[in-house]
Amino acid sequence: MAELRNYAAPRSLAEALQVLASGPATVLAGGTDLMPQSRSARVRFASTLLNIQGVAELRGVRRRDGAVEIGALTTIATLRDDPAVRNGAPVLWQACDHFASDQIRNAATIGGNICNASPAGDTLVPLLVLDASVVLASGGAAGILERRLPLSEFLTGPGRTARRPDELLVEVHIPVPASGWVDRYVKFGTRPALDISTIALAVGGTLLDGRLENARLALGAVAPTAIRAHDAERVLAEGPLDRARIDRVVDAADATIHPISDVRASDWYRRELVHNLLRRMLTDVCPN
Ligand SMILES: Cc1cc2nc3c(=O)[nH]c(=O)nc-3n(C[C@H](O)[C@H](O)[C@H](O)COP(=O)(O)OP(=O)(O)OC[C@H]3O[C@@H](n4cnc5c(N)ncnc54)[C@H](O)[C@@H]3O)c2cc1C
Repeated sequence: MAELRNYAAPRSLAEALQVLASGPATVLAGGTDLMPQSRSARVRFASTLLNIQGVAELRGVRRRDGAVEIGALTTIATLRDDPAVRNGAPVLWQACDHFASDQIRNAATIGGNICNASPAGDTLVPLLVLDASVVLASGGAAGILERRLPLSEFLTGPGRTARRPDELLVEVHIPVPASGWVDRYVKFGTRPALDISTIALAVGGTLLDGRLENARLALGAVAPTAIRAHDAERVLAEGPLDRARIDRVVDAADATIHPISDVRASDWYRRELVHNLLRRMLTDVCPN
């Protein structure tokens, strides 16, 4: 890759997209992933560093037409303090509350967490349970083109996404769940704060007569990307959430995951965590 030669700090989305359209650029948001990665030579900057911090239109949370819309530059601290997130996407709020430290939460953005595409990214698991999609913009002064992708299609591998080099992630779109929706999030790390997830789980659905309808289950740090466990979701939705069903859900989730051994845990330990925490979470969401 070329040597870093240019620094761009646009004040509008159109300007930012023009920079991306004119050649290879590395996008800088909060820098909490990018800067450590560049210092350790895991990432090399393209010839242009595009700092998007000045693009005010990418910040903020709006509740509109049955959805919560979150600008890509919105920080984790802002999400944690926002009533639309706390009420409209509670499982995301829980993940923001467990995210790193105050210093990191004040700088880290939701767009950066998604585009970094770590299998252990903390907002990814709740966003998958909420059926979130991402909005990608390209173009420039002549006009802005947007396309929307489900988050599950955007994440393609560890550190890899479906973003084209000329695109910026501009917004996260979350349909507000129906009334009766319940959800739970759990993150396991070796210490309660400032730790990357060893595993993370989230479950959500509409609770009706002891059943979890429209059930969604997502897992982090147990596969190349954060994933939905569709087979386990089908078992969840088939009938009352009793002990036998919970056993079958755990078996189905176990068959879906492919954990690795790394500095945080062995693959065996990650499987044990999924079994135990999923069982506990399902018992808690629907005590029978
Ligand atoms: C001490 C420490 C603790 C941490 N703890 C946690 C934790 O508990 N949980 C967790 O999930 N993460 C954690 N992280 C990782 C990091 O803070 C998050 O992933 C954060 O959300 C990244 O956001 P950012 O704005 O800093 O992204 P940046 O570092 O600026 O960018 C990250 C990547 O996304 C790209 N990018 C950013 N925004 C856009 C956009 N709008 N469009 C296109 N590409 C974009 C960048 O080019 C880069 O590749 C931690 C990091 C540190 C240093």
